[in-house]
Amino acid sequence: MSVVLQTTVVSLRSGLPWDVYVGRASSAPDAGCAGADGCFGNPVVPGGKRCFVCRMTHPDPGDTLPCFQQYFLHRVKTDPAYRVAVQALRGKRIACWCAPLEPCHARTIAAWVDGQPLPAASADLTGEAAAARIASRFGEQQD
Ligand SMILES: [Zn+2]
Ligand SMILES: [Zn+2]
Repeated sequence: MSVVLQTTVVSLRSGLPWDVYVGRASSAPDAGCAGADGCFGNPVVPGGKRCFVCRMTHPDPGDTLPCFQQYFLHRVKTDPAYRVAVQALRGKRIACWCAPLEPCHARTIAAWVDGQPLPAASADLTGEAAAARIASRFGEQQD
């Protein structure tokens, strides 16, 4: 039996409980909360500024998401510290200011995290190999 941990996206506007803030540092709801430094925030800013990914502007916040995804997938591949930090979000309630049904970069994060294989340590404890190992350990103790 393996426990499936699902990462949940919570809108800060909903008032529901959450664990880690994944928005930008400038709008952190609480200076002391996990993620308040904006480390999981979307660096692609909507408005008149040129996007560092596509070199265009994104007037609408939702338009930044394809570029966020590109940035995110590249960063988890090339930045091990970031990847580990993101993987630690697995099973957590991650919070952003977007309304519950609005497109949000937090969903990109949650989908990626939940699609990752579980760490080797816990994968080790499932399946027949583990059963055999436990059986052999039991046998040793019986001796
Ligand atoms: Zn862009
Ligand atoms: Zn959001």
